[in-house]
Amino acid sequence: MSKWKHSLHISKYESDPDYFDKYYGNKIIYLTFICCYNVMHEIGHVLCREYNYKFDKNLAHNDALNQFHEELLVNDFAAAYWHKFGQKEFLDKILMYVNKFIDKSEVQYGWDNLTKKLFKINYENYKIVYSSYASLSFLTKQLVFSRDDNYSKHYDNFQNFSIKESLYKNIDLNILLKEIGINNFCSFKDCNRLNYDYNINTPKEVISDVTKIFLGHGIQISPIEYYLENDKGCNYMCSEPIKDK
Ligand SMILES: [Zn+2]
Repeated sequence: MSKWKHSLHISKYESDPDYFDKYYGNKIIYLTFICCYNVMHEIGHVLCREYNYKFDKNLAHNDALNQFHEELLVNDFAAAYWHKFGQKEFLDKILMYVNKFIDKSEVQYGWDNLTKKLFKINYENYKIVYSSYASLSFLTKQLVFSRDDNYSKHYDNFQNFSIKESLYKNIDLNILLKEIGINNFCSFKDCNRLNYDYNINTPKEVISDVTKIFLGHGIQISPIEYYLENDKGCNYMCSEPIKDK
C-alpha cells in the first residue's frame, strides 16, 4: 500500500457566522454536519486514494465522471459508518438538516433540471434514488464542462440529495469497504456507538476514533491532519493527499 499524507481543510464557523447560520440553520447543525458527519465523507476520499479506488478503469481518462461517482460512493460510506457508530439522535439531526436543505432548495430554486435528471424523486415515500449511470454522466458533463454561475448551487444540490439517498439506502459498511478496494479486514459487526460534543475539536476526535477502530479491524489509514480555514465556500473541503516519496 502506498504511503500518503492527508490534509482536511474545514471551514471555520467564526470566519462568517451569519453565512453559516443562513446556510445550516445554526451553529450546532454546522458543527454536527461539517465537523462530525462530513469528516467521514472526507475520510472516504482518503481511503479511495490509499486503496487506489477507480470507478471504472476503462473510463479512467474521464476524470470528471470518476470524481462524481466517487462522491456518491463516499457519501454511501459516510452514511454506513454513522449508521454503525453514530447515535440515533445524531443521525436524526443530519437527516433533518438535509431534508431542510432540500425543501428550501425546492422553494428557492425549484427542482432544477440537472437535479431532476440526476435523481428520481418519489414523493409518496419521500425517497430519492439517483437514477442511472447515464444521468450521472449527463450531470457530470453539465457541471464540469459548463461551469456556469449556478455551479455551486447544482453542486450543493447534488451533495445533499446524494447524502439523503445514502442515509436511506444504509448499505452495510463491510460492503462499501470492499467497493473502495479494501479486501483484507475483520468484518464489522455490532459496534459501540460514539458520542461527541460537537465543537471545533470534534474533527480531531472523529479522525482519531476512526483511525483506531479501523486499525483494530486491520485497516490502516495514513496520518490525517486537519486545518480550520477561513473558507466559507468550503472550496478546500475535500482531502488533498500528497504521496510520500
Ligand atoms: Zn467529496
